[in-house]
Amino acid sequence: MEIKKVIPSGYCKGVVNAIRLAKKTKQDNPGSDVYILGMLVHNSFVTEELSQLGIVTLDDSGTSKSELLDRIDHGIVIFTAHGISDAIKRKAVEKGLTYVDATCVDVLKTQNIIRSYLDEGYDVIYFGKQKHPEAEAVLSISEKIHLVCDEKMLDELKIDNDKIFLTNQTTMSYLELHDLFELVRKKYPAVVVEEEICNATSSRQKAISDLKDCDVLYVVGDVKSNNTAKLVDIGKKHGIKKVLLIQDYKDIDLKDTDGAENVYVTAGASTPPKLIEEVIAYLRTQHA
Ligand code: SF4
Repeated sequence: MEIKKVIPSGYCKGVVNAIRLAKKTKQDNPGSDVYILGMLVHNSFVTEELSQLGIVTLDDSGTSKSELLDRIDHGIVIFTAHGISDAIKRKAVEKGLTYVDATCVDVLKTQNIIRSYLDEGYDVIYFGKQKHPEAEAVLSISEKIHLVCDEKMLDELKIDNDKIFLTNQTTMSYLELHDLFELVRKKYPAVVVEEEICNATSSRQKAISDLKDCDVLYVVGDVKSNNTAKLVDIGKKHGIKKVLLIQDYKDIDLKDTDGAENVYVTAGASTPPKLIEEVIAYLRTQHA
């Protein structure tokens, strides 16, 4: 049995930068309490590693960023790679907090494109995931941004404006995106479109689409990670017989590889390299 790593996979530049910023903030301010508003990146191992360094992650599902911010009255707050609304930044400043913004440059780029179309009088259709922090930060920019997660939401959408701009969350699946964008073009033929899947997401998805001989694909990542979930979707849609989402090597059931000739391992952009290497090492040891 061959066990191979899909290239590229794992950490992207936005995640590397966010983790570096968080660690540096604590290192440079050893006497200050350092908080992160939500998971810095969607991986519980990263959250745990930061916690060991004394960095506190505030992340209760169902609790808004504003409510999380209410729990802090001193110290430094870090905004995550997914982006943050201007209102939350203002609130942090009004509370007398110092903030560090770890928003990924690719997320900022999409936000800036959206802002420029809004300035020109467009309504914006934004294809993204409900309640995802990246989508929430974008939606906070203007009421003229309409979140669409699926065909049903698109059917229900009514925009009374001839000028419509269509774009997307950076970590969506290119297959879903193409299908949904086609439907938007049918509904609003004059729509102006810019696809904004980030390079890290698209290259990891394409690497899976290019696999020719894969019997089993392990996708290492956190269930909260959207780009990890999309790698699973792409693998399944690409016809790979078994696509398995695992958090680390302990989730592997070796029965899943029975009869397989080629086993591949990939990982979401927020998955630490150590976890990927442990999965590969474990599989190779068990099948030696
Ligand atoms: S997945 Fe893309 S948008 Fe998200 S942090 Fe990484 S590079 Fe940035």
